[in-house]
Amino acid sequence: MPKRKSEHCNPDLFCYVCGAFVILSNRININARTSEAYLEYFGFPIANQEKNWVPHVTCKNCNRIFSERRRDPNRKFDFAIPMIWKEPNPTNHELDCYFCQTDTVGHNSKTLKNIIYPTNTSSTRPKQRPEREELAHEESSDQSSSNTAAADPEYEHDESGPLLVNQDRLNNLIRDLDLPEDKALLLSSRLREWRLLTSDTI
Ligand SMILES: [Zn+2]
Ligand SMILES: [Zn+2]
Repeated sequence: MPKRKSEHCNPDLFCYVCGAFVILSNRININARTSEAYLEYFGFPIANQEKNWVPHVTCKNCNRIFSERRRDPNRKFDFAIPMIWKEPNPTNHELDCYFCQTDTVGHNSKTLKNIIYPTNTSSTRPKQRPEREELAHEESSDQSSSNTAAADPEYEHDESGPLLVNQDRLNNLIRDLDLPEDKALLLSSRLREWRLLTSDTI
């Protein structure tokens, strides 16, 4: 194994979903049920679980929200986009590693909220839901978009329905927002999930 990580580097001290440092008694291993609930809620899968640079656990709190959603589908996380993990730069590990950069020494359950989390290129902290997303979600379950309309190629230009996003519009939006590649992929995967992309948009 390449010796590029500090011996203190331990992603499994952190929650995969919210990125918080988790004390031992609150760590819960990610299992098939977690993966299923995560995909269902966020619209993309838990990734890189075979790698040693992402957490393989969640905190009790995130795990509880997933469990409660089985009974109450309206139960929501405080954020729409969870932690996004990328492999820390191997040549510059300690300056680019969320786990090495977070000072967790000496913290207990009472002082957890004082922990300061870093900003770097290998991790993106959870983000709030933009208001327009709620709207799009309601429109995607609108009864008026019947199968016959969807099969009609003219439907994509139907003025009474939502304006679907074609490749040009998507590319312009990504450029205007100055989105990095992972964010651009997240955006297009959400739009596709809500059936707001034209059929030929990738
Ligand atoms: Zn969590
Ligand atoms: Zn590290």
